Amino acid sequence: MAQDKKVALVTGANRGIGFETAKQLGEKGITVVVGARTLQSAEETASKLKSKGIDAYGIQLDVTSSADRAAAAKFLEEKFGKLDILINNAGVGSSTGFANVTSQVTDEELLRVFSTNLFSVVSITRELLPLLKKSDAGRIVNLSSILGSLTLHADPNSPIAHFKSFAYDGSKSALNAYTIHLAHELRDTNIKVNSAHPGWVKTEMGTDAAPMEIPEGAKTSVALALLGPDGPSGRFIHMGQELPW
Ligand code: NAP
Repeated sequence: MAQDKKVALVTGANRGIGFETAKQLGEKGITVVVGARTLQSAEETASKLKSKGIDAYGIQLDVTSSADRAAAAKFLEEKFGKLDILINNAGVGSSTGFANVTSQVTDEELLRVFSTNLFSVVSITRELLPLLKKSDAGRIVNLSSILGSLTLHADPNSPIAHFKSFAYDGSKSALNAYTIHLAHELRDTNIKVNSAHPGWVKTEMGTDAAPMEIPEGAKTSVALALLGPDGPSGRFIHMGQELPW
């Protein structure tokens, strides 16, 4: 029997935007399952949230590990019988920064970045979809980036035109394509699928140069996780505004 309270899984929840997203969802009374690459890190994260009165569970979930993904699905099935919210947050950046060396990108770099930012999202979503279908309002939030916007990258006058890092940007463009395709497939269900751009946020990935603080940076993910029945699906959103694909 599925529990009444909403259940959310946040990947890469041990720090940065993922931790804050889990915290903000937990503060709204949602049970949060926090995934981290190691069990120790996941349990420490869950303890931090529990100390704030949040109903939290930590699970080992290296998103690139098929064994971890299967174990996560089993845990959610056995413990809750459903999943209401999946936040595909875990992500890695390009190792070249914004060096604009598109022609030099290696197979290893592409595989590393696409494995986490795209392939793992597709795999974990496939694995968890049966549980999301048991929710009466399933929500999937894919953490994309404005750097995945082909429209903005193609415009030489756009603010991101000179911030080109192909492995990362291409992984987020492909993730956006996945959002559109999955939302189409699920258009007649209760499940909504959206891509989020959190903003440029002060995290390890965003660096101290970023203008946004982490609590602000989690707001787009949280809003998309809590969309009502009339909310959008198959969209690319930052702080309630649509971004160009
Ligand atoms: P972050 O501080 O670098 O945190 C990334 C998180 O992802 C960490 O918890 C990390 O875990 C986890 N992670 C990486 N690979 C993983 C794997 N294989 N399995 C499980 N977890 C993994 O980054 P962030 O800024 O919070 O970014 C969160 C998301 O927002 C990312 O998808 C990112 O692309 C996107 N985003 C961020 C910004 C920004 O300005 N910060 C802008 C646009 C989009 P470990 O601690 O184990 O490494």
